[in-house]
Amino acid sequence: MTTLAEVQAVVERLWPTSGAEAWDAPGLIAGDPAGEVRRIVLAVDAVADTIDEALAAQADLLLVHHPLLLRGVTTVAESTAKGALLARLIRGRCALLAAHTNADIVATGTSARLAALLQLRDAVPIVETAPGLGLGRVGALAESTTLGALARRLAGILPPTATGVRVAGAFDRPVRTVAVCGGAGDSLLGEPLVRGADAYVTADLRHHPASEAVESARVAGGPALIDVSHWASEWLWLEVAAEELRAALPGVEVAVSELRTDPWDFVVVQ
Ligand SMILES: [Zn+2]
Repeated sequence: MTTLAEVQAVVERLWPTSGAEAWDAPGLIAGDPAGEVRRIVLAVDAVADTIDEALAAQADLLLVHHPLLLRGVTTVAESTAKGALLARLIRGRCALLAAHTNADIVATGTSARLAALLQLRDAVPIVETAPGLGLGRVGALAESTTLGALARRLAGILPPTATGVRVAGAFDRPVRTVAVCGGAGDSLLGEPLVRGADAYVTADLRHHPASEAVESARVAGGPALIDVSHWASEWLWLEVAAEELRAALPGVEVAVSELRTDPWDFVVVQ
């Protein structure tokens, strides 16, 4: 029998919480550490759909990337969305655990997965937090390509979303060095390794940070921007995480949710 405490120990070995950002809240959100775990479902987000899927699969643990409770909570009343989600998990005897920024920085984390799928050579962290570990990755493509071709390649690698892949830069612009950061990566726009790359792939680029980066690149040089779905950029990591959990926990079934939890449903192209 595998207990939730044993799964927690494996999670701590794979994605040590000491690597998490100070504002983050990874770890166990709900569940009894003494309880048995036979089946784990992995998802980016704990939302109604992924919780329904975990309960329908009779999973004992829903392991997610985004912590459900990140800021101060004063109620888990079921008239609130998060209270209702937690109540469903607890009644369904399904624990909830998050591996967030602690899973971003490791050698097999979210950004490293994107870099590997793009086959970036000699990829190193954009911001190194310990030798070989850190936020984002930057490396070189095996061969030069164009910005448009890189965006199309990303569209083929990422799971489909309504918003697809948005690009700031000329379609034919040559690209060799690529910086990537799974999830919201606007905080890294000023990093020297991003500024020195030909293209920067990340998610959630808002108007002002993106506009300022484009203007700054005109004056002082800088990367073209490729903005992808936050969910899609991190979903790719789940299969790696699942493989690592299967190797460490033989006898425990580990499945990856294929439900799209990107919040956008459609776009109207003008
Ligand atoms: Zn994220």
